[in-house]
Amino acid sequence: MAGTLDVDVAVVGAGLAGLTAARDLEAAGRSVVVLEARDRVGGRVLSEPGPDGAVFELGAQFLGPGQHRIAALARSLDIESFPTHSAGLNVFEYGGRLHRFRGLAPRVSPAVLLDTARAQARIERMARRVPVEAPWEARRAGEWDGQSFRTWVERNTLTAGARAFFELAVQAVFSVEPEELSLLHILFYAHSAGGLATLLDTEGGAQEEHFDGGAALVAARLADRLRERVVLEAPVRRVAARDGGVIVSADGLEVSAGRVVVAVPPALCERIAFDPPLPGRRAQLHQRMAHGAVAKCVALYHEPFWREDGLSGQAASDLGPVGATFDVSPRSGRPGMILGFVEGRHARELELLPPEERRRLALDSFVRLFGERARRPEAYADRFWAEEEWSRGCYGGFFAPGGWTAYGPALREPVGRVHWAGTETSPVWMGYMDGAVRSGERAAREVLRALG
Ligand SMILES: Cc1cc2nc3c(=O)[nH]c(=O)nc-3n(C[C@H](O)[C@H](O)[C@H](O)COP(=O)(O)OP(=O)(O)OC[C@H]3O[C@@H](n4cnc5c(N)ncnc54)[C@H](O)[C@@H]3O)c2cc1C
Repeated sequence: MAGTLDVDVAVVGAGLAGLTAARDLEAAGRSVVVLEARDRVGGRVLSEPGPDGAVFELGAQFLGPGQHRIAALARSLDIESFPTHSAGLNVFEYGGRLHRFRGLAPRVSPAVLLDTARAQARIERMARRVPVEAPWEARRAGEWDGQSFRTWVERNTLTAGARAFFELAVQAVFSVEPEELSLLHILFYAHSAGGLATLLDTEGGAQEEHFDGGAALVAARLADRLRERVVLEAPVRRVAARDGGVIVSADGLEVSAGRVVVAVPPALCERIAFDPPLPGRRAQLHQRMAHGAVAKCVALYHEPFWREDGLSGQAASDLGPVGATFDVSPRSGRPGMILGFVEGRHARELELLPPEERRRLALDSFVRLFGERARRPEAYADRFWAEEEWSRGCYGGFFAPGGWTAYGPALREPVGRVHWAGTETSPVWMGYMDGAVRSGERAAREVLRALG
């Protein structure tokens, strides 16, 4: 060990949740240290520099209405956001054909539209009956948690088109396939965000805006304010209870603290040894809350040529590998940047291929959706999140059938002097940057109360 530090609170993980918790603890006069496994802060938020000042957003990017805590945090750090470009026609590739349309729904067939709208209205109604603080207490929690979303969709839709829509929606929001997800999880998630439509929409929804300069600026500026209290390349291996406190052991550093906030997703808590061992339900929660598979592929062009063709840059495809696209050009509109999401089974398939093949297939998708000019970008970057050692998939932890009712109550419940943060623990906007910030704020309040 290179050294031992003595602080009031140790925070594990310098994602938005951990950094927010540390900010609030320090503001309340507590000494704090943040231990981060990676050589950078931000976790699932990652912006990389591109040519001529452009920024490749390879992790979290968008924010929308109702996400008050991330918006307030960004404002406090002088970071501005601007609307995601959405003027023009959207493209839907379905059944081997391209449909161009305005708004959320393509004009496929009236039967499909009606079928989809009916099922979606039913989901919105059921979602409102799930208490976000305790989904396992919904009156029909057992029934809803006892089936996959695929099962529900097959029983409640009549057309292949409606099923394709829900498959794309689940891939887009959770980066998994409908059979992997508990129906209760999707209902909770929709309520947690204010509705399924809010999750899916650009204008008025979760993709409405993005940050000038990249979302990672938020994490970087938070970390700047914490200065040397953030220690990088310090993966925490062990958390042990000792004489009225905890010893947190990271590579190269040992911290003695009154309390610890573990701000890493449950699936990654599994890699930390706890002494004494965690209660069974908490330990098994770590085994149950899996992550999806997602890649972001971003191509940069001199200009957003699709706008000249009357296209918004937003597209969805049932063929893949890119399932959804957005125009993520900077506020000035130059250079032109297209973001493609590769999700669920498509991401798992692409992960088997070498980098140049992944890139070729992503660009093939862009060419089908936006034309031949998409073939040769000036620059290109991608990130496959299942391959990230300290994320192991994204966008966040989700529950398969049976998960919420069996393990939900353990999500936020502190264990002795160990407190839990991270977007997965947030009842509001779980899975999003906003949920991460809320969870950090909640964990800090919890610890401050406990410390008196
Ligand atoms: C591709 C992608 C796109 C996304 N798009 C959006 C979006 O548009 N809008 C949105 O709001 N959200 C989006 N998200 C989700 C968003 O990124 C997350 O909800 C949020 O950043 C989670 O923050 P967190 O602090 O809870 O967790 P994390 O960011 O995962 O932070 C956890 C930190 O803990 C560290 N760590 C892990 N194990 C250890 C250990 N043993 N010791 C020390 N450190 C450890 C990790 O390195 C990481 O830095 C996206 C995510 C991805 C991956």
